Amino acid sequence: MKKKVFFKTFGCRTNLYDSQVMMSSLKEYEITEDESQADVIVVNSCTVTNGADSNVRSYIGHVEKNGGAKIFLTGCGAHTKGEKLLLEKRVHGVFGQSEKEKIDLLLAQEKPFYNPGDLNHIDASVVDDFIGKSRAFIKIQEGCDFRCSYCIIPFVRGDARSMDESRIVEQISRLALNGFGEFILTGTNVGSYGQGSQTSLAKLMKRISQIRGVRRIRVGSVEPIQIGDEFKEILHEPWLEKHLHIALQHTSPTMLKLMNRRNVYKQDRELFEFLHDKGFAIGTDFITGHPGESEALWREAMQNTQALPLTHLHAFTYSKRDGTKSAIMKPEVNGKVASERLHELEAVIQNKNFEFRKAFRGELEVLIESQKDGLYYGHDQHFNTVLVQSEDDLIGNWINISNYEARGDCNYAQF
Ligand code: SF4
Repeated sequence: MKKKVFFKTFGCRTNLYDSQVMMSSLKEYEITEDESQADVIVVNSCTVTNGADSNVRSYIGHVEKNGGAKIFLTGCGAHTKGEKLLLEKRVHGVFGQSEKEKIDLLLAQEKPFYNPGDLNHIDASVVDDFIGKSRAFIKIQEGCDFRCSYCIIPFVRGDARSMDESRIVEQISRLALNGFGEFILTGTNVGSYGQGSQTSLAKLMKRISQIRGVRRIRVGSVEPIQIGDEFKEILHEPWLEKHLHIALQHTSPTMLKLMNRRNVYKQDRELFEFLHDKGFAIGTDFITGHPGESEALWREAMQNTQALPLTHLHAFTYSKRDGTKSAIMKPEVNGKVASERLHELEAVIQNKNFEFRKAFRGELEVLIESQKDGLYYGHDQHFNTVLVQSEDDLIGNWINISNYEARGDCNYAQF
């Protein structure tokens, strides 16, 4: 009888994808969804904050208490905590994400082992995930060359490297043939695609746009300095989603320096105004409560943020990660204050989003993704949520809506 393996995945989309790859590579074992039945547990760990590390440790403790299946550790935590956990005999084997396709061999090893793998590895497959039957996430690169002072990612995922362009094009062509129309390009630092080679993110997108069936292309997240002249040339293209997610992380010049960011507020503002004038909705990432964020710097940041034409926000309170420069910076910001700042920021952007939707005078181009409680759900070209009431089955359809109501948190229409 085959031994049973349970996969426990922590963290982000990349880890979910890596777990999928491990599951589909597993031939000599049976996968179980019932943890209590498992002979072997593969812990695909996350190490992005100290909190993430302790979640992994307490999960291992929980397995030890409940019968003690054999534990293997992989994911980002393999690089930061793997050796220690192995020495403490709390896990039987540790392997880096580059080794995931060899999972059968790894799980069969009798002797305890530590194999961190290769941080320059790049996966052969690029299809990351499917949403419904119409949108696909495509992983185009991995790793990051930036060294933001709070971030551990480059140390556990390696420097930036890009997937092969012809492989991306081949995969998207196949998906487009099967009815997929929207493609979301993802990675750790997507804007660095092609750096050091003949290609670039803009060139890749142009090539993808020529594939028959491709209707809309979205980029996960780019850095302000990655929107150069070449990228600006594709802004008018009908296949480019009229929404860009550009990571600022902060808007106080002093904080940006402390965080070792490469963006500069004054230039960020010029860029955002330029994109706004071209009709783009703009989202950003933001961290509140990083060490050194005094009340005066926060007020300055709020004033600067108010001046930006932002419509979407992906914000977090700062969370310490040992091994990073920020972890030893002082003074620290009280967690309650960081949360209050986060809420203040969210309220500002929510309001700006509402104003943007009210001011827009055009048709919404919506891809319907799902249905819930009698309402269809999708996103328009500005990445705003649209709820549609309809008697027809709209799932997977592209619809154009000219009559709609801009409500507080979404656009609403009858179709
Ligand atoms: S750009 Fe993103 S992934 Fe790279 S170091 Fe900065 S925060 Fe981390």
